[in-house]
Amino acid sequence: MSQALLIIAGPCAVESPAQLDAIASSLQKLGITHLRANIFKPRTSPSSFQGIEHNGIKIISSVAKKYHLKLVTEILDPDHLLLIAPIADIIQIGSRNMHNSALLKKIAQAHLKNPILLKRGFAATKQEVLGAINYLKEYGHQGEIILCERGIRTFTDGEYSRATLDLNFLAALKSDPLFHHRIIIDPSHAAGTAKLIEPLALAGIAAGADGLLIEVSLEPYLSQAQSDKEQHITPDVLKNIIQKSKQIHQLINKK
Ligand code: PEP
Ligand code: MN
Repeated sequence: MSQALLIIAGPCAVESPAQLDAIASSLQKLGITHLRANIFKPRTSPSSFQGIEHNGIKIISSVAKKYHLKLVTEILDPDHLLLIAPIADIIQIGSRNMHNSALLKKIAQAHLKNPILLKRGFAATKQEVLGAINYLKEYGHQGEIILCERGIRTFTDGEYSRATLDLNFLAALKSDPLFHHRIIIDPSHAAGTAKLIEPLALAGIAAGADGLLIEVSLEPYLSQAQSDKEQHITPDVLKNIIQKSKQIHQLINKK
């Protein structure tokens, strides 16, 4: 029996208590169990919105509690660990930090039982991904490590998508008898545009993904989002993707 799909949804960045509350409420109504709620944002430009940072800690923990959702949130720095570990059900390590061995060591040495969602670096080889997982394991992380494929940098560079969702990598790891971690996919950061989320999500499930990480928002917050506005989908669209994903997942796991 395969495990149920892990669906993690929420905004790219938490921007206000009202925004997160509205999104969490709509996700709970869809039966979603995991809320992505990031307050520390790794941005390319220092002049871009960096997240609401420490001001968000109370917001994410109280909204997740209010709607009985499991909290998934990213840390960028070892200093965030003390604050985030007690409130997060899953700690996210983003693409840019997959190669940050000092951070991986610090997180691992805390011997936490919280699962870690490790996002593949956008130019990381299989060996580099396995190396990052091994840092976490060998330095003492106690919880599950869930890998996330979020697209790699190829030559598309914004022409029709943001990155290339590497389904070859997903299928290769899923068929590797030595690899035992769950792998989910993030179609949002691969697509960069809302209209590609459904086809990429469904293709990922068909290729063996164990779940999805998807950016979701709703009006009036969606059109004012300070990061990744173009790639958020609405709860209605997500509902449809989940229904189809469950059917595909069942089909491919049929014995
Ligand atoms: C994110 O999921 O919030 C994110 C920043 O994605 P990535 O680390 O894959 O770029
Ligand atoms: Mn984003």
